Amino acid sequence: MAAAPTPAPLPGGVAETLATRAGDAMALNDRYLNPQLGRIVRTLGFDRVWTRGEGAHLIDAQGNRYLDLLSGYGTFAVGRNNPDVIAALHELLDSHSANLPQLGVSVLPGLLAQQLVARAPERIVAMVPANTGTEAVEAAIKLARATTGRPRILYASHAFHGLTLGSLSLNGDEQFRDGFGPLLPGCDRVPWGDLDALRREFSGDEVAAFIIEPVQGKGVNLPPDGYLAGAQALCREHGAMFVCDEVQTGLGRTGRFFALEHWGLDPDMICVAKALSGGFVPVGGVLVSAHVRDRVFDGMERGVRHGSTFGGNDMAAAAGLATLAVIEREGLVARAAELGELLLELTRPLVDRYEIVRDVRGLGLMWAIELGTPERPRRRAVWNLVERAQTGLAAQLIVVPLFQRHRIFCQVAGHRMNVVKALPALVVEEAEIRRFAAALEDVVARADRMGTAVGRLGWDLARGSARALRR
Ligand code: PMP
Repeated sequence: MAAAPTPAPLPGGVAETLATRAGDAMALNDRYLNPQLGRIVRTLGFDRVWTRGEGAHLIDAQGNRYLDLLSGYGTFAVGRNNPDVIAALHELLDSHSANLPQLGVSVLPGLLAQQLVARAPERIVAMVPANTGTEAVEAAIKLARATTGRPRILYASHAFHGLTLGSLSLNGDEQFRDGFGPLLPGCDRVPWGDLDALRREFSGDEVAAFIIEPVQGKGVNLPPDGYLAGAQALCREHGAMFVCDEVQTGLGRTGRFFALEHWGLDPDMICVAKALSGGFVPVGGVLVSAHVRDRVFDGMERGVRHGSTFGGNDMAAAAGLATLAVIEREGLVARAAELGELLLELTRPLVDRYEIVRDVRGLGLMWAIELGTPERPRRRAVWNLVERAQTGLAAQLIVVPLFQRHRIFCQVAGHRMNVVKALPALVVEEAEIRRFAAALEDVVARADRMGTAVGRLGWDLARGSARALRR
């Protein structure tokens, strides 16, 4: 048996522990959690002692404020530590609610479902609760098979739907899939944006569902005109479920409450999670049509054939209701649309100004810049040095200086792609969007020139990456 932990956990309570032990986070991570994550964070120079979150910002132990463009992978849409959501959670804890009666029902999850259904297209009538994005997608796979009695699930190249085994079977990136097979049978990849290829998959009557992110998170890929509506029509024609995974795009992120509204879609199921709880507690759900609900739960003996212990718990539901109220009251959906437009307006010109910028794209506050090999030989040499160490590493020539020089925290948009992505909190100030655009131009201009400092950073990254591969 392991020795009893010393000192006793949380001796002075949570607040004191946070105040006095924050500096131990990395050592604890390396010893007890994931040391390889620690190495990534250190290699990028992101190893700050984070002590506070506030709105669109993370604050370190020295009190430095960083603009957080990761937003916890999109969970902090209403801002970190949103006071309304905190108040709702305090109230819930103080109420000693009759949480999770299990063979019984409680009011908050019902109200949350009601609110989400009211914001969805008419076809959607109910919610199947879950706890995370991946769990919502797992549920969608099961519900689609049970509704149609068919086995096949189609998904797109570059797709990301979560990392549990079912949703991993719908993952378009070999880096994630590698080593975990055999994955779920019956899951087939189609090229993103290619309607003819999708049509060919419907030749038999075996397809249960096509599951798709309206805007892909990995790479921030926007759908070609007519693609999503065409995919939906194919599903309808062949009796398959059309499922929108709005785990990242939902709740106002793209400038509509659901991204599907941009194209007037009417799916059979919608997966939600991430931002729904304001970032405090795990949350998720699948919004479903009456057809799905009634086919899956088609009798009393099948009334609990899908679910999970914590699905529809009071903490998640209270946080969800408070989050929806904040989104509404502060007009965050319209705000995402306006600030997203502004960000594109400010950053699109970089495509014409700099050799290394291939594309700038986005929808609402889901934004990305794509880089490509520069033409001029010396610049190309530095680029190639970095890219030879690891495909996609060159994007770090933007990400790292944004953090070091400008205190802006962002990420590359996926493995082996030179795409830098931003998902600011929807409460971000306009001035911060302008600051980001100016900082971006500063670091892009430097990377474009590939001067000594950038060359040195490239060399360090290449060496760091080579070392990481050796171990
Ligand atoms: N679907 C999409 C579109 C996502 O972006 C994510 C998370 N990045 C997931 C599903 C999985 O969500 P979770 O991490 O909560 O399991």
